[in-house]
Amino acid sequence: MRMLIMGAPGAGKGTMASIIKEFYHIPHISTGDMFREAMKISSPVGLTAKQYIEKGELVPDEVTIRLVEERLREEDAQHGFLFDGFPRTLSQAQALDTILSLQNVKLDVVVDMRIDRDLLIKRLSGRRVCSQCNANYHIENLKPKVEGICDRCGSPLIQRKDDTEETIHHRLAVYEENTLPLIAYYEAKGLVVAAKGYGNTYQSFCEIEPILGAMHDYNQK
Ligand SMILES: [Zn+2]
Repeated sequence: MRMLIMGAPGAGKGTMASIIKEFYHIPHISTGDMFREAMKISSPVGLTAKQYIEKGELVPDEVTIRLVEERLREEDAQHGFLFDGFPRTLSQAQALDTILSLQNVKLDVVVDMRIDRDLLIKRLSGRRVCSQCNANYHIENLKPKVEGICDRCGSPLIQRKDDTEETIHHRLAVYEENTLPLIAYYEAKGLVVAAKGYGNTYQSFCEIEPILGAMHDYNQK
């Protein structure tokens, strides 16, 4: 199963990705994690990426694509993968198509996590995180035992700067601007499956799983 997962920040992408990864026994490939790892071990691509990231610039597509190309050659990715955080641009999407066609394989599915905007804002702006151990809470859905205090270590909970309503609006606008053309690109290829980005994620997966299976079978023919 060769898949991508997309979704606005807060649309439950991480949880869905871990369910998919377990269910299909495929590696979850997050380009963000790969860059962090490449920089940590100072690999050639890591050192190149670092030059841009330290200047606060975006890593150019060709560097990201090189990283992806190397990753796809590894043994565990031969029977499938789940990309997360990639592609981010149309040219990255086209590059991915080229890489896959050179390997004589095709993308099966693009899972798009969808959630109502107001719900998303409520979800993100209610998020609190422990200032010490990073444990996550929510003022409505996942309350700590004592308000404002971490259950695990007793430290004060804080709201991340990223999670204020104003920043969230901005993050969503940026996300939509970048992602909508990509969704359109994959929709034109008939690859997009919309998944509920709210409620129980496992249930949301069960709803789309037969469709994912059918799309994969179709591609094998
Ligand atoms: Zn804590």
